[in-house]
This record gives sequence, C-alpha cells and structure tokens, in this order.
Amino acid sequence: RAKEAGRNQHRCFEPLMDAEIKRRSVLERQLREAILADDLRPHFQPLVELAGRRLVGFELLARWPRRDGLNIGPDQFIPIAEESGLINELMLQLLERGCREALGWDARLSIAINISPVQLKDPWLAQKILATLTRLAFPPQRLEIEVTENALIVDADNARRTIESLKNQGIKVALDDFGTGYSSMHHLRMLAFDKIKIDRSFIQALDTDPDARKIVRAIVGLASSFDLPVVAEGIETEAAAQTLAALGCSYGQGYLFGAALSAEQLWREWLVPVTRGGELGTA
Ligand code: C2E
Ligand code: MG
Ligand code: MG
Ligand code: MG
Repeated sequence: RAKEAGRNQHRCFEPLMDAEIKRRSVLERQLREAILADDLRPHFQPLVELAGRRLVGFELLARWPRRDGLNIGPDQFIPIAEESGLINELMLQLLERGCREALGWDARLSIAINISPVQLKDPWLAQKILATLTRLAFPPQRLEIEVTENALIVDADNARRTIESLKNQGIKVALDDFGTGYSSMHHLRMLAFDKIKIDRSFIQALDTDPDARKIVRAIVGLASSFDLPVVAEGIETEAAAQTLAALGCSYGQGYLFGAALSAEQLWREWLVPVTRGGELGTA
C-alpha cells in the first residue's frame, strides 16, 4: 500500500519535472539563437552621486526583447546562460553595445557591467574584455566590473587572478549585492575592490526597519576604513536617499532616480541636457 502511494506521488511529480526541463531547454535554445542573432540589448540604469544628485554613470543590465512579447527577465535567463556556457558571449556582446553607446556620452560618465561567478574562473576573461575595449578605443578607466561575493568563493584563486589583471588594466571592480552572500572581511582584505554596492534588500527596509539602518551604518563604516566608496542600490524613496546621504553613503541607484532604460530612452531622458552643454544632473 505504502509502495503504491509512493508510486502515485512519483507519478504526479514526474510530469511537472518534465515540463520544467522542457521549458528550460526551449528557453536555452531560444537564448542561444538570440545571442547568435545579436538580439540581446543592454539597458542603462543611472548611478547618481547622492550629495549633489549628479549623474556619474550607468549600469548595463541585460534585456531580451522577444518577438513573442514574453517578458523573460535576467533573473530567469542569466542562470540559463551561466549553465549553458552562453554567458561569456552574452556579456561580450553587451559590453560592446554598451561601450559603443558610452563613447557618445560625456566622457566623465562610467559604465558598469555585471560578471557572473562562473566567468571569473575563465583565465582569459580579462583578455577578452580588454580586446573589446581596445577594438573600440574605449578607455578602461571608464569601465567598472560588478562581481558578487559568491563569485569569490567559487574559485578563489582564479577569481583573484582575474580581478587583479582587470585592475592592472585600469578597470575598476565593485563588490555587488554586499551583505547577502558570504560577506567575509577576508574578501575585502585580499581583493582590492574600488567600490561596495549595498544590496537593495537593506535599502528597501531603511524606512521601516531600524535594524536596516544599523546594518547600513556598519557597512559604510567598514567600507570607509578601507577607503571604499559605497553605492546603495534600490533607492525608491526620497527619505531613503536622505538617510543614506546622512549615513555617509556616496552614491545611489534606484527607481527614485530612474529605472534601466534602452539606449534610445536614455538619450531622451538623461543625455540630451549634457550635449546641450548643461551640467550633469538628474533633471
Ligand atoms: P544587480 O546587478 O544587483 O542589478 C540591480 C537590479 O535591481 C536590476 O534588476 C535593477 O533593474 C533592479 N533595480 C534597480 N533599482 C531598483 C529599485 O529601486 N527597486 C527595485 N525593486 N529594483 C531595482 P534586473 O535588471 O532585473 O537584474 C537582476 C540581476 O540580474 C542583476 O542584479 C544582476 O545580478 C543580473 N544581471 C542583469 N544583467 C546581467 C548581465 O548582463 N550579466 C550578468 N552576469 N548578470 C546580469
Ligand atoms: Mg549589478
Ligand atoms: Mg546589485
Ligand atoms: Mg541585486
């Protein structure tokens, strides 16, 4: 009887698994085709200096415009790209498109691109990125790489080598989503990061949870003892922006300032005032 029940359970479970596996393999095939066709697009989210509300750069976030209109976000397709080995190609295409756009902006504006943990294992990653920058004559100093803490424990030695060779070329490296992974002080000590980005879960709790404020204060204090500027991500309210500035956080990013936009929208909403000779601002 128990055996029979177990078998029944098994039978209910299997079609679900099959459907999920099938969905994933369809997505993987479509993603491969999209990358081959150079269909993925960077969107650009503004990074702002909190004190003067000055625009300092943009983070590139991958978007997958699909003919069928389905909205498949990076939280879904990035893991598929990582597991199928497509992530390097995806990143290089995004980097190329992003840099081409950025060459048309005010040269003081930086761009940041996300690198997946698996990519740091690739001993050629720094060379690949550099080859793209060289081909486009894009100054490495304007590029920032964002890595998450979890990237550092996957393969610490290779990660350290890759980060060092990026930095040797003048590329900046930021520690992304700080506070959610294995926030080891060891990483801060061993790897010369240029910036820390506090995860948005802490920022979004700022207005309601006094503990979030204590955590942010502690992170900013820790970072400042390493002379590292801090970026707060996910700022949605004016109150949070002001709290963060008061706590000593230098930069911010979030819907309060602007969501990620396509290159065309970016020109309409952010960049036109700059080319008119105006100051960089969040107007
Ligand atoms: P992330 O690097 O931490 O990027 C920030 C995410 O927070 C973005 O989501 C952004 O749209 C979202 N965000 C920004 N401001 C706010 C806000 O005020 N409120 C809220 N609720 N969300 C905000 P997105 O674009 O969906 O990307 C999600 C994650 O996917 C990224 O997190 C990053 O880890 C990954 N990702 C995106 N593009 C790439 C890529 O090209 N390569 C890799 N490896 N990962 C990527
Ligand atoms: Mg990021
Ligand atoms: Mg982040
Ligand atoms: Mg995040």
